Amino acid sequence: MSLPLIRLAIGRTNGTAHYGVLLTATEFVTACASHSPDLAPIAEHTAHTLCQSCARAWLILTTPQHPGEEPEARPAIGTGASATGHRPIPGHLMGYCGKPLDPRTSPARRVCANCTAQGAALARLQRLAGELRLPDGDPSHVDDRVLWAPSGRGNLVTGHRRDALLDRSWCGQRLSGPNPGASNECAPCRQIWQEAEVTRQTYTLPQIRERAHRWPQRRDLDMFDDRAGALRPGDAYTLSGCEETHHVVAAADRSRSSHTDLVVYLPAADRIADVRVRGECLVTIQRPPCTQTVLLHPAPRVS
Ligand SMILES: [Zn+2]
Ligand SMILES: [Zn+2]
Ligand SMILES: [Zn+2]
Repeated sequence: MSLPLIRLAIGRTNGTAHYGVLLTATEFVTACASHSPDLAPIAEHTAHTLCQSCARAWLILTTPQHPGEEPEARPAIGTGASATGHRPIPGHLMGYCGKPLDPRTSPARRVCANCTAQGAALARLQRLAGELRLPDGDPSHVDDRVLWAPSGRGNLVTGHRRDALLDRSWCGQRLSGPNPGASNECAPCRQIWQEAEVTRQTYTLPQIRERAHRWPQRRDLDMFDDRAGALRPGDAYTLSGCEETHHVVAAADRSRSSHTDLVVYLPAADRIADVRVRGECLVTIQRPPCTQTVLLHPAPRVS
């Protein structure tokens, strides 16, 4: 038996969405073990907010192990090494329970009850679903071609391009989230973005390409595992699920946000891309002794 993982919600257009599988026409199981007789399958690209526990279940199901060894337990950030151990989501410094974790391993015997519960709910889902079929997710860390929806009750037909470093649309609006269903692209966004893109191609790309080319010969690099939120301009990093070394051109400084926005150079494609990764994503960082180099040329702005 093989069942697809689908999204379920009580409301058809908004509210909280969960991941789960339909076992029969009326019987289903969710990844977070929440249950309501009113839950029903929903369409793609709706304005639902994803249940936090189901969002983590998705990460657990879709993230390959970090290259190199991952321990069975890590302590939560800010606790002692012998504190309760949390079960790390593969490729992330985040527990099954959602706690941000320390890169150290945990020798603790006690395992967090919430991590255990989340693991059990997911194991039940997998057991009942047989072989779980996952929908094609967006490649987890490169999404610079996706259009975004403005915050508030904006229209969902027109999508905006996002200035990753400012967390606003290029036309200056606040944004609520990706809007892959948008059929039109905002014209001011497109125009300003194109001008910024010319600057990137003309000035930034040759410089970072040269730097990346010399990178493998460098002997002065400090190498360590940390969260993606710790990345700084001038670093290079690798992460699970992607073979490539990413070179950080710029990083947005938004410590309270759940995601880290980066401008990176991808050597294989020879292009600079906006990249959005979860702050707790586990990355192996290569850091030169001095990362003060200014790599980003400011983009021209149309006011
Ligand atoms: Zn859920
Ligand atoms: Zn935990
Ligand atoms: Zn716009």
